[in-house]
Amino acid sequence: MTGSAGNTGGTVNAADLAGWIRHAAELVSADAERLTRLDAAIGDGDHGHNLDRGFAAAVAALPADAPPGKTLIAAGRAIVSKTGGASGPLYGTALRRMGKAFGGASDEQGVDAALLGEGLRAALDGVRELGQAADGDKTMVDALVPAAAAYDEALAAGTDLAGCVRAAAGAAERGAEETVPMQARKGRASYLGPRSTGHMDPGAASTALILRALADVV
Ligand code: ADP
Ligand code: MG
Repeated sequence: MTGSAGNTGGTVNAADLAGWIRHAAELVSADAERLTRLDAAIGDGDHGHNLDRGFAAAVAALPADAPPGKTLIAAGRAIVSKTGGASGPLYGTALRRMGKAFGGASDEQGVDAALLGEGLRAALDGVRELGQAADGDKTMVDALVPAAAAYDEALAAGTDLAGCVRAAAGAAERGAEETVPMQARKGRASYLGPRSTGHMDPGAASTALILRALADVV
């Protein structure tokens, strides 16, 4: 989905971000059963369904003529109000914070690689504040932390926006894999104690999907 209007390779505009949300909705919908199966193993088996509903609502709420920040804020607000479970407020907050971090960037200016990195950081901070999960607690934080770190590292090395996002998506996938042996210390899976080991955290898995969706569209 490259080459959308206004995307010169170094920035994303509102249409690109709307394309991200739409593609994330497609990937979540295609993988809803796997996400639900992961959640059935260590939670209550609703994660795929929750996110499928939430992202469908986000797609429906995408504004027609809004700058980049407002586009993500609208998507995040819809996810908070329409997604069940712990993950709804967390993902909704992440998108709203990312949108806020884009501030008043106009659609003509777009969001460059540095500002997108700030947005990713803001999303992670929002999830941490709301969920109070530490690194290694076996949550979506364990996919977001390596993603933000890989993004920043790529940016510092002079990588373009698409390369930074690809680095973040790859790191999120590896971070999700690394949740398999972890014992959950936050959320529903923590009720299982040591029996929560041996399964990938569903929220880390969906975070990897959502960042893959962004890598696909930039
Ligand atoms: P619920 O657990 O309420 O059924 P979901 O199944 O939709 O909600 O989402 C579960 C995912 O939410 C977990 O796999 C985990 O990644 C994430 N999660 C749960 N609690 C927290 C938290 N406090 N901080 C960060 N992520 C969390
Ligand atoms: Mg659940």
